[in-house]
Amino acid sequence: MKKNRRKVLIRVVKSMVPLRSSSRRFFLLVVLCLAVGGILLAGNSKKGPSIYISVDMEGIGTIVSSAQTSSSQWEYSRGRKLMTAEVNAAIQGCLEAGAGKIVVADSHGNAQNIIPEELHEAALLIRSFPRPLLQMEGINETFDGVIFIGYHPKEGTPQANLSHTLWGSKIFELKINGIALSEAMFNAAVAGHFGVPVIMVAGDQNVVAESRKVFGNVETVQTKTSLGWLSAMSPHPKLICQKIKEAAKRAVERIREIKPYRIKAPLRMELTFKHIYDAEAFAYLPWVERVGGKTIAFETNNILDINHFLTALFSINKR
Ligand SMILES: [Zn+2]
Repeated sequence: MKKNRRKVLIRVVKSMVPLRSSSRRFFLLVVLCLAVGGILLAGNSKKGPSIYISVDMEGIGTIVSSAQTSSSQWEYSRGRKLMTAEVNAAIQGCLEAGAGKIVVADSHGNAQNIIPEELHEAALLIRSFPRPLLQMEGINETFDGVIFIGYHPKEGTPQANLSHTLWGSKIFELKINGIALSEAMFNAAVAGHFGVPVIMVAGDQNVVAESRKVFGNVETVQTKTSLGWLSAMSPHPKLICQKIKEAAKRAVERIREIKPYRIKAPLRMELTFKHIYDAEAFAYLPWVERVGGKTIAFETNNILDINHFLTALFSINKR
């Protein structure tokens, strides 16, 4: 409670007569504080929890290849529709559980995949790159939970449809403190920096298994079973959306049970490129160490420094 409010309350209590003992005054003060606190809390809960939804494309059900994920390919318009439908299902579930503010971050490719006029009206939409926090732009401490839709396994995962880490043609591996991270893990740690937990994840069987192992008791939806890098088996999109809606609803209802995912500082980032040239170029930065032919490293206490470094890396090639 704010200082001036407390002062007013003390004055009110002191003015009440008869109050013979200070312990009685203290008792009344506690009762008043609890009452005012309750009213304030009730006021806030009316608004409902604020939910942030980061949406990638490779983990959307029935999407299997660049035919659906690349803007120049023949089935991209279908990919956009499938992606938008899964996001809408998540938004609907959040709303049914009483969510307030919902922000959706389109986070695949050029980040202009979700069809704006087909997106649920209840959500705000973040589009296009570059932007400061990449796939998590817009996240901050005012949010109560994060949902990942369309997420995919990290590069190198066996039997993993469209697996990659951040930038398939450039990056082989992103490690922090010796652990190779998927995009879901890295983005969850960014949300964890702001104290916000990941409450639901949708993707293939690898994404579901990793989420349960790493994030604990989060809600998950398996949108497909990966069969190979360019093949998967999925249920009908309508059934996937139904499951996403139900899981999002449960996730928002259980929001207080789920803890944020944090990586303990100091954070040593090791980034392995696919080509030796990128490691050579970035190692010219004075605070970057070259630890292998294709690997650079640096240390920081703040995960946002790593995020901003990656943003710079992507942004250089964007114009
Ligand atoms: Zn991705």
